[in-house]
Amino acid sequence: MNTVKLAGTDLEISEVGFGGIPIIPLPENEAVSVIKHCFDLGITFFDTANMYPTSEEKIGTALKAVREKVVIATKTTKRDGKEALTHIDLSLRQIKTDWIDIYQLHNVSNEEALEQVLAPQGAYDAARKARAEGKIRFIGISSHSIRIAIKALKTGLFQTLQFPFNFIENDPANELFPLARKNDVGIIGMKPLGGGLLERADLCFGFLRQHPYVVPIPGIRSKKEADEIIGLYRDPKPLSKADLKEMENIQSILGERFCHRCEYCMPCDQGVQIPSVLIFKSSAKRISREGVKAWLGKPMENVVKCIECGECEEKCPYNLPIIDMLKENLALFKAYT
Ligand code: SF4
Ligand code: SF4
Repeated sequence: MNTVKLAGTDLEISEVGFGGIPIIPLPENEAVSVIKHCFDLGITFFDTANMYPTSEEKIGTALKAVREKVVIATKTTKRDGKEALTHIDLSLRQIKTDWIDIYQLHNVSNEEALEQVLAPQGAYDAARKARAEGKIRFIGISSHSIRIAIKALKTGLFQTLQFPFNFIENDPANELFPLARKNDVGIIGMKPLGGGLLERADLCFGFLRQHPYVVPIPGIRSKKEADEIIGLYRDPKPLSKADLKEMENIQSILGERFCHRCEYCMPCDQGVQIPSVLIFKSSAKRISREGVKAWLGKPMENVVKCIECGECEEKCPYNLPIIDMLKENLALFKAYT
């Protein structure tokens, strides 16, 4: 597998990385075996988070013997500095390592979150302190909002940006990614397969190969999936006219009901957690039934509080029929659980 230098850092990593969500439900030995297989095939970049239960531990166990040869990124959703420091130490223990290569402030997708992480004694300060102590090497940010990510990059504080990018969610290529490249910020592409909703890996990675400055981190749950994805990089084929036509079809079908998790529709005065509900299908594809119940149970309960005021639909830049989608996802969740 080819390697690339991740902008903003001195890290040399495989051109495609490993996303740590789908190994959550796997038994430890199976997960470790999949991770080792990915390493053997050339993947040297592994992304996880301590909010992904057991993912850090499994990655740490699998890669302990080759720690010097791999780059490990993890993240925290904590906004407060003290809590973020606790998370950093927890991640170090769980990954069984003395250092984290990239520590990311996770899902900073609204103004409030950005202000909190950047406040004195906020999570950014904690990461900077940990960096000075050698616990982490580079500080990154992840977001689902182009507007907030642009604001964050303009601070000049972050060395990497993790953002969703696939052929349905391709708008970061217009303004956000050019800004990141201009500012020498490394770009990590989350959800290269649309969070599990896009089934044609050949189309997904064919699209991503047109943006080689983005390092995608597909979630990989089996050796077979690893072989398929890595095969697409070892033997890359250009997209044909038929492929492009198929991508357009998928865009037109999915695009009208695809939630980008940007949170522009929030907050809802009635307490409906709109993006959490609208990503049910993607969650069900990536995590176990028990995990979906635990994660989405509360947001799904709150759907009945919707009074159909329509404010969220006015704010959604993708003109999604949110009210209808809330009902649809609630019905699917009930049938699934
Ligand atoms: S339509 Fe429902 S979900 Fe949307 S803002 Fe109004 S109450 Fe909240
Ligand atoms: S419903 Fe629309 S505004 Fe809300 S998170 Fe999804 S894409 Fe963004």
